[in-house]
Amino acid sequence: MAHRVTLVIGDGTGPELMETTRRVLEATGVKFDFETAEAGIDAMEKYGTPLPDATLESIKRTGCALKGPVTTPVGTGFRSVNVAMRAAFDLYACVRPCKSYAGVRSRYNNIDLVIIRENTEDLYAGIEFEKDKPDTKELVDWIFSKQPKARLRRDCGISVKAISVSGTERIVKYAFDYARQNKRKKVTAVHKSNILKFSDGLFLSVAREVAKSYPDIQFDDRIVDNMCMQLVQRPEEYDMLVLPNLYGDILSDLCAGLVGGLGVAPGANIGNGGVAIFEATHGSAPKYKGLDKVNPTAVILSGMLMLRHLKENAAADKLERAVAKVIADGKSVTYDLKADRNDKSAVGTRAMGDAIIRAMNS
Ligand code: NAD
Repeated sequence: MAHRVTLVIGDGTGPELMETTRRVLEATGVKFDFETAEAGIDAMEKYGTPLPDATLESIKRTGCALKGPVTTPVGTGFRSVNVAMRAAFDLYACVRPCKSYAGVRSRYNNIDLVIIRENTEDLYAGIEFEKDKPDTKELVDWIFSKQPKARLRRDCGISVKAISVSGTERIVKYAFDYARQNKRKKVTAVHKSNILKFSDGLFLSVAREVAKSYPDIQFDDRIVDNMCMQLVQRPEEYDMLVLPNLYGDILSDLCAGLVGGLGVAPGANIGNGGVAIFEATHGSAPKYKGLDKVNPTAVILSGMLMLRHLKENAAADKLERAVAKVIADGKSVTYDLKADRNDKSAVGTRAMGDAIIRAMNS
């Protein structure tokens, strides 16, 4: 039976990346029943909203989406389409594998890390108070009434960082369950609990509690600044990282840098409600829109993660091998995978997709 999947086309370089990825996925031999849906700037112009109800309804119907990158439009009342989509389906776990493929230009090799980023709370929950607004003044007065010595200036804007026991429990459990299912050995919790005692401190103490139920998986923790240094010095010492939302966002890009950049970093957003959305770590790279230039690997590997989610493991393995072969050959690859970014032999988005299809069939 064909798998029903929503293809959210996105904007910027999204349409060309999604067209290529769709062809590659169809070439795996797996049967799909794709519903295409819109989101982002192009949808905003057509429907007056960057996230039309029809898109959310399609994802609800299919339970599975492959999403192209989406620009965050400024001044629409939408903080971010991406954040809104994850919130709509309570997709609390963002899974970002960072794996070295031979042939990718990087200072490191043999990296195989998995980042599990909490997706719903922390500073991304959108609880913010703008400078000089009446509510902000009231909040500042209230804080001074409770903490007269608070180091708070009246000309401030305020973003609230809230981390809960229930939110932390489920993300850390997700990380340990993933470790068991994927034969991983160690989970490292990342935090700044020495300074942020009531938010990150809570994250760490809950993570320690959850870890006790998984004696077969090693557990340790690192302060986020130290973690950044260690990742660039000794990344091989780490296996899986579990992080609150903001640190997860930042370290995802850092780890993407370890394995060759955003062009090769896939991701998945998972919840308990039966919906999963797969998307690259990178954004819409709008300056390359329509140029058939950017690397499709991150979106294609997100498709590979989707195949695994759909239990199409043989097809996922075949696709991953083909991607690895094309990258290792180094001929039919986009500019970012060439030693010299101006190398005239670099191919475009579509041609790299075609090479992956040929490699699957050879
Ligand atoms: P970006 O990831 O779009 O691009 C930054 C740079 O990374 C590009 O200029 C390019 O040099 C490189 N790059 C990105 N993708 C690449 C690819 N596939 N191949 C080769 N090189 C690639 O980040 P940005 O410019 O900060 O953000 C652009 C827009 O995308 C913003 O509106 C942002 O909010 C949005 N965004 C969306 C998502 C998402 O849809 N999940 C994620 C991040 C950013």
